[in-house]
Amino acid sequence: MSDEHTYGFDTLAIHAGARPDPATGARQTPIYQTTAYVFRDADHAAALFNLQEVGFIYSRLTNPTVAVLQERMATLEGGVGAVCCSSGHAAQIMALFPLMGPGKNVVVSTRLYGGTVTQFSQTIKRFGWSAKFVDTDDLDAVKAAIDDDTRALFCESIANPGGYVSDIPALAEVADGAGVPLIVDNTSATPYLCRPIEHGATLVVHSMTKFLTGNGTVTGGVVIDSGKFDWTASDKFPSLSEPEPAYHGLKFAETFGPLAFTFHGIAIGLRDLGMTLNPQAAHYTLMGIETLSLRMDRHVQNAEKIAAWLETHSAVEAVTYAGLPSSPYKDRAAKICPKGAGGLFTVALKGGYEACMRFVDSLEIFSHVANLGDTRSLVIHSASTTHRQLTEEQQIAAGAAPNVVRLSIGIEDADDLIADLDKALKAAGG
Ligand SMILES: *Cc1c(COP(=O)(O)O)cnc(C)c1O
Repeated sequence: MSDEHTYGFDTLAIHAGARPDPATGARQTPIYQTTAYVFRDADHAAALFNLQEVGFIYSRLTNPTVAVLQERMATLEGGVGAVCCSSGHAAQIMALFPLMGPGKNVVVSTRLYGGTVTQFSQTIKRFGWSAKFVDTDDLDAVKAAIDDDTRALFCESIANPGGYVSDIPALAEVADGAGVPLIVDNTSATPYLCRPIEHGATLVVHSMTKFLTGNGTVTGGVVIDSGKFDWTASDKFPSLSEPEPAYHGLKFAETFGPLAFTFHGIAIGLRDLGMTLNPQAAHYTLMGIETLSLRMDRHVQNAEKIAAWLETHSAVEAVTYAGLPSSPYKDRAAKICPKGAGGLFTVALKGGYEACMRFVDSLEIFSHVANLGDTRSLVIHSASTTHRQLTEEQQIAAGAAPNVVRLSIGIEDADDLIADLDKALKAAGG
């Protein structure tokens, strides 16, 4: 589109990156179900492989359907470029890959999606990388954790599972001071509720599996670059600032300027790690994003009503929703995500672990699944499932203590959801 800077969010959510198909006029973005693309001639092929011309070579690297989604996500987040990948977890590896190396570390929040805690505390060690977990509300602790080998700071905007809101501007300032990028996982908020780049984030990652696709159909991830970080300001990021041996000595920062990170993500990351998003999944996600703002408004409206109702229930010990007037994060949420604190929160039950199990088993409208951000309402007992690999201490730090149940509030009728919760709380024996 011509005037992307002047259009509002809802217009961009439907149009950014897309245009009628040049070959057929198809109004909806076609699913380009193809592996390869015919070169015009031998010179064209050589120019594409040399990154002298941008175009399509092979769908592990780029695909026209995926490219529309990349441009849409970059636009909605206010970044300069985006790289889609096969899942949210793939996006996290793709974001870290150009920055890290053996012996390097990333300083991360203790309040993260359970799978991310496992990925960071265990799996990345096999690459020689490590993560240092800190309470990101303690800025002195964050500063103290950053050392000469730190290559990034990582947090979630609205953190899973408790709906805790990160102080992104304060963390961005700390990251800036240390000369490292701030990476924000914006999955639970989506760019409709929070735009981390406007608060100072360098990179934004998403599991598009959740609210962006919105209906629990496909997995997908994306890394969006603000284009604002100077990779050449220090010798910390040689993959971007120095000749890259994996691309015949190309200097990405010098050649691509603000698009260095994005080009590196495609030319090295997707090429060699192969965590590619397929065009069918891109299609489902593009469909989902068309209605993102309508859905997020309803998720928030329902979550606010249900959290307030739960808070007064006799079986409930506490509700973590940052949108509640009683939440310690209420003011921060109003600043970081002014349109609402999302649809995700936890409930602690007075009856403890056993009551949580009975509660989960008694719900009817809420589906008991390891997912969030669906149109359907979902429930899970994090400590026995998604956060099972963690120690009890880590579970508590992550907001997933044994007496806590996580709710992902859908867009059904709030009164039906409340009736379902009420019945299950009675069955739980609170
Ligand atoms: C689901 C999720 C992930 C992982 O995404 P997948 O698409 O399941 O790989 C990462 N971060 C957050 C906040 C999530 O909710």
